[in-house]
Amino acid sequence: MQQNNIDADVVVVGGGPVGLTLALLLADEGARVSVIEPMTAPGDLPRAISIADESFRILERLGLADDLKAESYLDTGARYFGLGDRLLAQSKPVPSRTGHPAKSQFDQPVLEQLLWDRAVEHPDIDFRTGQRAVAITQDGTTVTVTTRSEDGVTSTVVGSWLAGADGGRSFTRDALGVPLVGSTQEERWVVVDLLNTTREKEPYAEFHGNGDRPYVYVPGIKGRLRLEFMMLPGDDAEEITRPDKIRELVLPFHPQVTPEDIRRAVVYVAHRRLAKTYRAGRAFLVGDAGHLMPPFSGQGLNAGLRDASNLAWKLRAALDGVGTDRLLDSYESERRTHAKKMVRISHITGSIVMARGVAAAARDVVFSVARLFPPVHAYLSSMRFITPPDYSKGVAVDPAREVDSRFAEAVGKAMSQPTVETAEGTTSPLDAHLGTGWAILELGPTGTGQVARDPFWNGVPRVRLLPRGHHRGPQEAGPSDLTDLTGAFVDPARPLGVPHVVVVRPDRYVAAVFTAADEARVVAALRTYVDLSRSVDRSRRKENR
Ligand SMILES: Cc1cc2nc3c(=O)[nH]c(=O)nc-3n(C[C@H](O)[C@H](O)[C@H](O)COP(=O)(O)OP(=O)(O)OC[C@H]3O[C@@H](n4cnc5c(N)ncnc54)[C@H](O)[C@@H]3O)c2cc1C
Repeated sequence: MQQNNIDADVVVVGGGPVGLTLALLLADEGARVSVIEPMTAPGDLPRAISIADESFRILERLGLADDLKAESYLDTGARYFGLGDRLLAQSKPVPSRTGHPAKSQFDQPVLEQLLWDRAVEHPDIDFRTGQRAVAITQDGTTVTVTTRSEDGVTSTVVGSWLAGADGGRSFTRDALGVPLVGSTQEERWVVVDLLNTTREKEPYAEFHGNGDRPYVYVPGIKGRLRLEFMMLPGDDAEEITRPDKIRELVLPFHPQVTPEDIRRAVVYVAHRRLAKTYRAGRAFLVGDAGHLMPPFSGQGLNAGLRDASNLAWKLRAALDGVGTDRLLDSYESERRTHAKKMVRISHITGSIVMARGVAAAARDVVFSVARLFPPVHAYLSSMRFITPPDYSKGVAVDPAREVDSRFAEAVGKAMSQPTVETAEGTTSPLDAHLGTGWAILELGPTGTGQVARDPFWNGVPRVRLLPRGHHRGPQEAGPSDLTDLTGAFVDPARPLGVPHVVVVRPDRYVAAVFTAADEARVVAALRTYVDLSRSVDRSRRKENR
């Protein structure tokens, strides 16, 4: 739907990790994207250190997951220590549900470099580095951004849509008149990144609430180590970041530390704030521009990548003329709700770690008592308080009563990713067979052809999942007939009474699960967001431009 008077389908303000992820997701689908970024090289501040499975899944789409994994400490857990360094709780690395390690320790500059390199060479990204957004206006059909370079030269870029990905101090947010709600914590932390550490490491981030000077210890690979020390009342930011003071703080963890081993030492003030709204007309806020949270639960960047993944397919649908305004509105309702939860959880985690004096002693008692109650202890130790998004109240349809309970629970959640096998015996993760848009999974060998017959599904590719051990008939040898090797969807021990269909959104969340009896209701509900009969696949979209 490119118009002659516009430069880009989407203008992204800010080429940090979230802006570039969004730009690449859109451009890989044939959208023309302009990215405006004041820096001329990728960010080198090692901020985020903890990465979630869903972030790897998003990066997999961009072909970057393997390169990042090679520089990450995969499959880690967390340990919480109290007074006297007594272990209060630990969450062990958990088996993967989505095909990627649930939690890993990575290096944000490595990710930023990977994204930058891909964006620079992408034919559909007009990457305007050395330019800062200084004004934003919009009308009913376009958004215009004025940019200024270091030497004061201004220019404009006109797009159909705009995404503000310009970080915590977002110019876009201010220009749109969107206030931040929430508060800034009193506590300040000294964040130190070390290189060449030799101490033997275990796959855990450690939170030491020692009541004296609480600290966080996060080992990485290749000798990297993140240390975060709480600043005490009376500590002076300039004084505590002096090289001799930093050396004093890190010496117990890196006895041979040299000045070159200290990659960075800065004071960080934790915020917990949310943009009041994520959408203003044709403009959206993503990443830190929309939410600022304390780093203790490692959620800021992970939330930003989820924002990018959520908004990308909705904007694509709008550009193709198949998505409704309600679909675009769902970006805010889905993402802001989850960000709000993560801001709260990050704050609570921080308060637990940071407790001092009487509060620290009380915390340790609570954890000791919790040990006596297995469900409470299991909840804490499996970090179930860091709940993944649930979009069941967003672009999703409540399951009918006849839907098997295993699948009813999956609606609104990220789709599990089993390993599947083709008729030729090749194995791969399921995502690799689903394309980049919507997809339908037909579960089980019998009778699935009777479900999902409405013309609404015409534009949607299908995959049939067969149970392990099933002898394929001649009609089941096609490329879209796959054996579910893990039993995550089709378990020979628990066959389904009636054929089921799973509808998967482009961001790999489950939009609906239905049987033949309920198809009309599901179609009617999804039609209020998107017309899948007219959805355009990637190759056609590129040809149409
Ligand atoms: C100490 C610390 C530890 C952290 N740990 C974790 C963690 O473990 N896990 C996690 O998920 N998150 C963590 N975070 C948070 C994470 O680093 C951020 O959430 C993430 O960097 C946000 O990315 P972003 O792209 O939204 O914003 P940014 O990275 O801030 O990028 C914004 C971009 O916009 C550009 N920009 C600014 N103004 C303009 C303008 N006017 N015009 C155009 N461009 C502009 C900037 O140059 C920048 O490139 C941590 C943060 C800190 C500080």
